[in-house]
Amino acid sequence: MRPSNLRIAMLSAHSCPVGKLGARDTGGMSVYIRELARELGKQGHSVDIYTRIHDPDDPLIINLGHGSRLIHLRAGQDNDMHKLALYCYLPEFTCNLENFRKDNGLEYDVVFSHYWLSTWVGTYLRQWWQVPQVTTFHTLGLIKNNIGIGEDEPELRIVTERDAVNNSQRIIASTAEEKEAIMRHYGAIPENIGVVPCGVNIEQFRPYDKMKARRELGLNGNKIVLFVGRIDPLKGVEQLVKSIVYLNKFDDLKLVIIGGDDESQDEINKLKRLSNEMGITDKLDFRGTIKHVNLPLYYNAADVCAVPSYYESFGLVALESLACGTPVVATDIGDLRNIIRDGETGYITADNSPRELAGKIAGVLSGSGFNGKSAAAIRDSIIDYSWTRVAEMVTRELDTALARQPVETY
Ligand code: UDP
Repeated sequence: MRPSNLRIAMLSAHSCPVGKLGARDTGGMSVYIRELARELGKQGHSVDIYTRIHDPDDPLIINLGHGSRLIHLRAGQDNDMHKLALYCYLPEFTCNLENFRKDNGLEYDVVFSHYWLSTWVGTYLRQWWQVPQVTTFHTLGLIKNNIGIGEDEPELRIVTERDAVNNSQRIIASTAEEKEAIMRHYGAIPENIGVVPCGVNIEQFRPYDKMKARRELGLNGNKIVLFVGRIDPLKGVEQLVKSIVYLNKFDDLKLVIIGGDDESQDEINKLKRLSNEMGITDKLDFRGTIKHVNLPLYYNAADVCAVPSYYESFGLVALESLACGTPVVATDIGDLRNIIRDGETGYITADNSPRELAGKIAGVLSGSGFNGKSAAAIRDSIIDYSWTRVAEMVTRELDTALARQPVETY
């Protein structure tokens, strides 16, 4: 019999779940870890998230809410570091974690690893602690390489992901497609993989008066198309910028782009050059990274939110927009096909070509052929994706892993 309240060590070695969102390495995974930990804590479990110090001013421990906290550990210098460089410091991170655990008399029932770098750490901890490791990859190196957009993922990542498949008692995929990909590309067996979707904070993301939101944000377009996310080539923002020329029948249309910090400046400059060449600079409004708590206003101000990505493991932005009652036009990736009701709460596009994106965005903006629902009905369509429900599903997966004890050692 497992204890009714689980003691969970969550690992997010490279990206800090309370870091600035929309920066190069912090996006959906950070939101996922933070929100899930809080909800598991509320449901009576105790969750410690271990992550690396990114800034010498970071407090050692941050309480996230009832039963959940975040613990910063030293791994290399206390500054931003490329995720690949962190690989060399994973042994230091692992030892510091173990020392912290011993010094504080902590015991855990399960180690829950996020992203390939954390699985390296989790594989040691599960053997030292004799507990199961549960893994969520969030994105997969081989899939990214097959798409071939942006940086190539190194062999080191692929090998570590393969090892993680063999060293995890349970893998949680966000979609059925991801489960299938983990089986096909990494040789996992179906019995070891559960599927649990991502969630959205339905208290925070809710409908609001559109015109009031625009006034509060100083957004003054007649029609507003919104992009929210890391400014990464895989997000397809360039395709969205190119689509704007096909939307010139809409007077005073603005594309508001949210996301991108100093480290994304090259990508942002590329987009600015492109808009200059296309003569549409007046239609683009780059707002940089925006705090997650302030995003509901942006989603509410928009007429449509676009997700033109080449790859998403899930697509949290689409859920957040729909929770605010704003339709979404998205490519057919991640779980977007299941989240969006095509023709009612948005559109799934055939691809992310500028013409195709523009056609679907125009459909939403003009209402032609689009059986658009009210904001309340759009929100209702995703109401099942609450973190409460997601945390309950994750707990069942952790239980399945615990039922597979004892953990064998090498
Ligand atoms: N986000 C944010 N501020 C920004 C840009 C993004 O809070 O300036 C958040 C966004 O609301 C979403 C997450 O970052 O919760 C991005 O998640 P998604 O799954 O869409 O993309 P990922 O980063 O995982 O590729």
